[in-house]
Amino acid sequence: MPPILPPGIDNGNHDDIDVREALFNDAAIGSISYVQASKERITQLRGILFDLDPKLYRTGPISPHVPSDPREFFDLIAQNWLARHPLLQQAQVRISGIGLHAIINLDPPVVFCSDGERDRWAGVVETVQAALPVDPDQPGMTAVTRPVGSINSKNGASVELLREGTSVTADDVLSLFTEMCKTPFRTVMTILTGTNRLTPCPICQGEATTLSALDYSGQCYGGCGKIKLQQLYDLVLQPRDRKHEEGRR
Ligand SMILES: [Zn+2]
Repeated sequence: MPPILPPGIDNGNHDDIDVREALFNDAAIGSISYVQASKERITQLRGILFDLDPKLYRTGPISPHVPSDPREFFDLIAQNWLARHPLLQQAQVRISGIGLHAIINLDPPVVFCSDGERDRWAGVVETVQAALPVDPDQPGMTAVTRPVGSINSKNGASVELLREGTSVTADDVLSLFTEMCKTPFRTVMTILTGTNRLTPCPICQGEATTLSALDYSGQCYGGCGKIKLQQLYDLVLQPRDRKHEEGRR
């Protein structure tokens, strides 16, 4: 059994199996049942997690090869997504054992003075997480990570720090939040592809077609017409049904 520790106390036992680390309140480290908290119990936010598991992603026109090894997945795919946005560039990246945990660390933490403020930030976190193609079932503000050096029992791998990253401020996070509210399609397309104009269109792949990013949607000229944001995510995410089947196996 992993030890139960008081909040914020790190006893150095990072070889413990399946230990978790909170990105909220006092950054508790301990067993999942000790560390996890309901949204209502969160009084300060220290980080935003993007759970990037190679199993979530499919090959396709914008990612012809998806490595299953987390380090190769970072080098070939995730690193590029993060590099294409000034906030995501600051993320810390850990190999969680099987996938990657990219973490936007907030310093100072965002302290909530009211339930309303916490609820507003819960929305900010989920909106910011949607800048990357994360699992739609991933928790928002309540997400926890794994401490560096701990063991993931799923494959016995130890959690590694791949990139230290740099802390950001609440205003930095709110700036991506505003972008995601005002220009979600352009923001996500730029992060996923590095451009706001692609020839041929990756959705229909028709000859002489071009996908251009507008603010809320895309437009495929000479091909499939109006493109929704969900269709961009679908270019890289496995179909939900298949993923759920794999999860049940
Ligand atoms: Zn098209």
